[in-house]
Amino acid sequence: MQDQINGTTGLATLEGMQPFSWQAAAVGEYEHSLPTRHAELRTDLSARILALTGRQISPQEIYTDGSLAVAGVDGVTFRLHHHSLVLVRTCTYCGTGHFEGPKMSSLSDLGYALSTWRPLHEDCEDYSAEDLADF
Ligand SMILES: [Zn+2]
Repeated sequence: MQDQINGTTGLATLEGMQPFSWQAAAVGEYEHSLPTRHAELRTDLSARILALTGRQISPQEIYTDGSLAVAGVDGVTFRLHHHSLVLVRTCTYCGTGHFEGPKMSSLSDLGYALSTWRPLHEDCEDYSAEDLADF
């Protein structure tokens, strides 16, 4: 039994896998770094939220998949992806869907995303723009 497993057939199979060993190495490295990625994303997002809102978010309140991190603060959803912080909001008109706002790096960026930025589906019209007539 033992001789068969360590025989030439097994070696031939391993050699056949060689062209893909770089992929296995990359995937292995990714999986090895995953706990660190999760921790870094949580730390990064909570630090940015603290800087912009003054609210302390615990790591347990932050969802991360290893490439992006998401957290809710007082009903507002923050998302960190590729080191870019954005807000996630629903359609201004129908209240469904998920829209990512402009990249934010300052308090005024956050203010813009909270007030002026009005995400809309292509088929949803924002009739509130008619209020501009009051100016
Ligand atoms: Zn809509």
